Amino acid sequence: MTKHVIHGLTNTQLAGRARALLPRGHGFARRIHRQVMLDGRFEPESFGLGQQACTAWRSQFSFELPELVTVQSDEGDCGATSKMVLRLRDGLEVESVCIPMGRGRYTLCVSSQVGCKMGCAFCETGRMGLLRHLTADEIIAQLLVARHRLGWPIRNVVFMGMGEALDNARHVFQALRVLNDEASLAIAQERLTICTVGHAAGIRLLDQQGLKRLNLSISLNAANDVLRSEIMPINRRTDLAELQQALIAYRPRPNFALGVNYCLLPGINDTRADAEAVAEFCKPLGRVLVNLIPYNPGSVPLTRAPEEVEVERFIAWLRAEGLPVRERVTKGRKVMAA
Ligand code: SF4
Repeated sequence: MTKHVIHGLTNTQLAGRARALLPRGHGFARRIHRQVMLDGRFEPESFGLGQQACTAWRSQFSFELPELVTVQSDEGDCGATSKMVLRLRDGLEVESVCIPMGRGRYTLCVSSQVGCKMGCAFCETGRMGLLRHLTADEIIAQLLVARHRLGWPIRNVVFMGMGEALDNARHVFQALRVLNDEASLAIAQERLTICTVGHAAGIRLLDQQGLKRLNLSISLNAANDVLRSEIMPINRRTDLAELQQALIAYRPRPNFALGVNYCLLPGINDTRADAEAVAEFCKPLGRVLVNLIPYNPGSVPLTRAPEEVEVERFIAWLRAEGLPVRERVTKGRKVMAA
């Protein structure tokens, strides 16, 4: 019999299933859920439940975290950037990265798929192809391992690890509900970010979820169709005009600011004309914040890492076009986490 995985459910969902499946002991569902999510333990006995009720709980529900394979850390000015690798039930592995944000705050960058079918030319994961989607519990497990096994004080969660989050919308949306569940993890929507390569259908679906305070960012990386189709194959199906329309329609709240991630690739997307094209693309999108990310060459580099002077010059061009820009300091180069 397939058991219901507790950490893939919200508090209310678990209570509903327990009521339907358990003849006794279901009244403890909400406390059991909080124990799993907040303490990383599943011990129905600890609530004084009798033997039969505990056996029933264990026969219908499970809580098991994936095996922690490796943890690598790279010390930086505002804390360590750490990457963990987890082995899933079927032996496949995924990565999550803990990024220091300063003042003792950390963001966990979670994976939503094993591999990815989007094939972005600058990305290591893209070379694997898509092996499978992660389930909601496998996404949540990354946070629970980070908090309960490694003691990382995670405050924010960003879907920017392996995979395209909106290509796995059903499980990612359920994971968002679990993360945001006020009765347990209670991570505010403002502290959750979906990052997408520009999955227009997924953006429309996300809009229907009613998550008004959620953050959304896109990986733009080129604002002309020829170049973007070359380095990001999704652009051959969803060109910049269609992506722009989907983003114009996505207005979850009046003060919403779209994150626009731009990975600076020297010799590829770093001319003044590229900066002007970014500004042109962003013009009808309302408030945006451009995150400029210096390229971090992987094992099969597309180009070299940009010099600081090249990064500064591109930022200056974007600002001259009136765009607010933040340089994302490349953290964790050594652990290949940037
Ligand atoms: S969508 Fe993300 S994970 Fe997938 S290939 Fe592109 S950059 Fe890599």
